[in-house]
Order: sequence, then C-alpha cells, then structure tokens
Amino acid sequence: MVVARTEKENKDAITQLRSQLKGYPAVTDEYLEQFLVARSWSVEGALKQLVDMFAWRKENDIDFYPVATKENGLPVLYPIRGYSSIPDQNLVAQPGVAESVLRVYSHMGGSCLHKIDKDGCPIYIERLGYHQAKELAKHTTAEEIFHYHIGCNEFLHRVIMKDCSQKAGKPINRETVIFDCTGMGWQRKYNRISSGEFHMPAINLIRTISDVDQKYYPETLNRLFLVNAPTAFVYVWKIVKAWLDPGTIDKIQILGKDYQAELLTHIDAENLPSFLGGECTCDHLPGGCVPSQVLKNAPKNIPGDDNQNVPTAYNTDIMEQAKVSEELRGHTTQVEAPLN
Ligand SMILES: [Zn+2]
Repeated sequence: MVVARTEKENKDAITQLRSQLKGYPAVTDEYLEQFLVARSWSVEGALKQLVDMFAWRKENDIDFYPVATKENGLPVLYPIRGYSSIPDQNLVAQPGVAESVLRVYSHMGGSCLHKIDKDGCPIYIERLGYHQAKELAKHTTAEEIFHYHIGCNEFLHRVIMKDCSQKAGKPINRETVIFDCTGMGWQRKYNRISSGEFHMPAINLIRTISDVDQKYYPETLNRLFLVNAPTAFVYVWKIVKAWLDPGTIDKIQILGKDYQAELLTHIDAENLPSFLGGECTCDHLPGGCVPSQVLKNAPKNIPGDDNQNVPTAYNTDIMEQAKVSEELRGHTTQVEAPLN
C-alpha cells in the first residue's frame, strides 16, 4: 500500500539527508529528492546510495568527463536538435571523438536528443527497431559501451538539462524517452524469443546500463514510450520489468501502432518528428530528426587518424586535458563542486 506523503515530510527528509552529507560536494534539493524517491523516501537508503554514487564518480573520474559545449566546440556523441545553448548537429567523425564511439553508434539504429516535451524535459528518441544488438555485442566491449553511455549521460545532465531548466524557469532533471520499434526483428523472430534464444549478450549490455542508471543517475526518467511495439515484446517486457523499480514501471507505456494521440498528449506536434505523428522534419541536417547509420539516411562515419581507438568517448589528450580544464567539463548542475 502506498501511503501519501505530505510536502512537509518530504522537506524534512531532504533537510535530514543534507545534514548527514557533510564533507560531500554541495548538491541541490532536487538532486537529493531523486535519491530519496528512488529509495522510497528512506533517508538511510538515500544516504547510502548517495555515498556510493560519490565514491563511484570519484573512482571513475566522472566529474572530469569532457562534454561538448558551444564554447569548447567538442564533437557531440549523438545528434542533438532544438536547444538554445548548443547548435544542432549530428555525430560525425570529427577529430577528437574516439573511434569506439563511431563503432558503437554505427550499430545503433539511430538516436537523437530531440527538443522538449510539454513538461520542458528533453526528449531522447531511439530507433530501437534498427538496433543491431548482435553486432553491438560482438564488435564492442562492455567498457566501450560504459564510456559511451557515461559520456552521453554527463552531456545530458550538465549541458542539456541546464538548457531546459533555463527555458522552463524551473529545475529540469528528467528526460522523456521514445523507443521506436519499427523494423524490429522480434516481429519476425517470435519463435526464437519464446524458445529462449534471444540474444543474451545484448540483454546483458542493456542490464549493465540499466544498473548504472538506477544506482548513479536515479529518477532521471520523466516518461518512456515504446511505440510500434510488437506483440512479442510482452515476453521480453516481463524480463526487463524485474530489473526496474516499481516507480519506474508506472512511467512506461508500451504502445502498438496507435500511439500518435498518446505522444501528442505529452509532446507538441512541432517538437515531435513527422515519422512519429508530429510535424517536425529537421530538414536542415542530414538524416532529418533522427539520423541512422543503419538506415543510411545520413553520410557514413568513417573513422580517421584523428579518431583514436580507445574505450573512452574522446581521444586520450582530451580526456587528460579535461582533468585540468573546466571548459572541457562544461557546466555542472547537480553536483555544484567537483570532487577533490
Ligand atoms: Zn525534428
């Protein structure tokens, strides 16, 4: 049974949690609330998760991860559209971006951080149906996927969330995600799924990422829409559901072919790509709203000598420079001061 909490109880929990975080970097109330919500408002539970998160960030130098900004001109790790603080652009084989990022991205069905929903949250769209899960598991390492994911997460939170917060005039720390299943092999391979032959390495990669997000970036999902979902998805959904918090499950909608009205309830037509029932076409960039290397609707990214074969998202010199250059780290929103 869910017991309704009062505003005062929530505020008290935040104060209590903050008082126990002496010696740790200063963070916002909203950030503390994310951890409290993730731990069903247990101050003790949230404290433990926060302490673990700070340790993880320090151990992995996450505060020093370089992120693309308008000022530092670093290449983005995935396409972006519609934010005022950084120009619209695609992920291209620009100098500085690691070869591993281009390789990971070449097997993804296509993704884009595309404008905002009616809550003011950034929308991340992924053509999940064109995802080459097998190739991804075969040609990339868990370390490369980890770095790519961290690079994208840090960019989202330090650059895009800040942009959206300014636009909304309130803190924005959640994203809305649309997974488009169009093209999904599961529709054809129904029998293989039910016989348990579904690509386990791919599922393990998803699980690793989902673990990282729940532990270290908790409560950052506004809504998740899975559209054009094949009927067989319910089988996989049962597996995935077991890894998610109950609070997360409530935000997720699995929709078949009739999803447009639901998306338009939460997203203005001008911010929604036309292939998802909206009016946006992003004609100003190759690939339109959501470029895809798999669909070949944008030029192929051929790695050159300036794209190092390293597991990190950027070349080694950029990773090293970011440790001493604030400009390469962009802004920090949640964590106000970097760890020493
Ligand atoms: Zn668009």
